Amino acid sequence: MLDTAVIGSGMAGTAVAAELERLGRDYIVLEAGPHQGRAHIAADEGSAHLADPAQDPAFTPFLAQPGTPYGPLSGYRRRVGGRSLYWRGICLRIEDDALREWPAEVRRALLGTDGEPGLYARTEAALKAWSGGTRLTQARTETEEAMAKELAGLGYPAVPTPRAIRTLGQGRWEAYSPVTGLPSERIRTGHRVSAVRKRAEGGYSLILDDGDGPALDARHVVLCAGTVGNIELVDGLVHGQHREPRRYSLVDHVACGMLVVEDGRHGAMESSVHAGFDAPSRSNLIVERQRHGSGVLMDAWAMGEQPPEAASTVLVGDRTSIVLEPPALAALDAVRREQRNLLRELARRTGLKARFREEYVSFDEALAQAEAQPGTAVVYDATIGELDHESGGLPLDGEHVDVAGQLREAPGVAVAGPCLIPRAGAANPSLTTLALARYVVQHMS
Ligand SMILES: Cc1cc2nc3c(=O)[nH]c(=O)nc-3n(C[C@H](O)[C@H](O)[C@H](O)COP(=O)(O)OP(=O)(O)OC[C@H]3O[C@@H](n4cnc5c(N)ncnc54)[C@H](O)[C@@H]3O)c2cc1C
Repeated sequence: MLDTAVIGSGMAGTAVAAELERLGRDYIVLEAGPHQGRAHIAADEGSAHLADPAQDPAFTPFLAQPGTPYGPLSGYRRRVGGRSLYWRGICLRIEDDALREWPAEVRRALLGTDGEPGLYARTEAALKAWSGGTRLTQARTETEEAMAKELAGLGYPAVPTPRAIRTLGQGRWEAYSPVTGLPSERIRTGHRVSAVRKRAEGGYSLILDDGDGPALDARHVVLCAGTVGNIELVDGLVHGQHREPRRYSLVDHVACGMLVVEDGRHGAMESSVHAGFDAPSRSNLIVERQRHGSGVLMDAWAMGEQPPEAASTVLVGDRTSIVLEPPALAALDAVRREQRNLLRELARRTGLKARFREEYVSFDEALAQAEAQPGTAVVYDATIGELDHESGGLPLDGEHVDVAGQLREAPGVAVAGPCLIPRAGAANPSLTTLALARYVVQHMS
């Protein structure tokens, strides 16, 4: 019998595997998709277009029938490395106000105690060492440096956006992925685990491809099949074939931005500045510039928490669906109003002419309008599920998962990934996902 099976080889699965490797444990990673190389998509000009799910053959929607939230462009990149080969490397810590609602033990582990660095500081140090810089907020382009200075001059606490990336020249770059260091013999591709079942003799059977493949037995299991996938696997393990749909809470981030097509030149590498956290909208403000045709595209966006009272609901039954109920929609509108105020203020301070509309405008629609009116800022929104930041559902110290990331109903089964996040705050999830992967493995029996 296998000692430890890790299900999923994305950001969480490979971070868990890296920690198991470091501890000298015996493990295998089971990945539904194929091996398609381990290079980040931005490392090669020819694969940068894969960031767009519509152009990526590895893209697999979360839901058999995508709904309004979590529509047809929300899903996995089903291949070894998962979305760790697509992410932009933005590494922000979850803000204190949100962390305050986490279990005290986990908060202490993340932040450290009595002068001892916590998992956030250790993970940041490892990412900094990997990127070869002196800090994650090191300017990557001259424009980035100039933008940070300009925004600081306008009163924003602006720094180059903290990113775990390495620049490779000619606009190419790569973001950190734990998959690059894993031995190939530890990864089994084409192994989609459809269910985990307790064995009467001890340990667990992993059912492959809806029972069509042979089962694999393991003493320990770590579920890293993405947030929605983990919810489905835990639901199947705990409830079996119940008819009534069960409810799990899920959040993404709420984002609103403005686009301006400007004259001028920009190098091949994009520039990104974090202009601080805004308390009224509970959002991080990021201002970016990149080459766009013969000019430059500025994209300033506020990304905030999908508040707990505005969470989506995952319904797991015969078929998984995700819904947003009317009270949640009203709470989301309140966040979007504050985000528009934040962007209006940025337009005022920078002297930009801006067109604000209260109703939803997609990125593509806003871009077409911005191209038609160079110099005018046009506002857009991201729909829930579009940002690939789905988290929650199996929170630490919640109904199913204990404070150490272990499944209450199934000793020997641990869970990793953004699904563990008890309160998401405004930060992108991956710094926290990487930190929690170490935490969960350290608490495995
Ligand atoms: C374009 C893009 C940019 C992003 N930028 C950022 C950023 O800058 N900062 C940030 O913090 N986050 C960012 N993210 C989000 C980040 O990538 C995700 O939060 C993170 O990858 C989620 O990790 P995960 O391990 O839960 O899921 P994934 O990385 O999606 O991994 C899940 C893996 O499990 C496999 N799998 C699923 N089900 C099964 C099963 N039943 N059996 C076997 N295998 C299975 C999948 O094929 C996949 O390989 C970005 C995402 C995208 C797509």
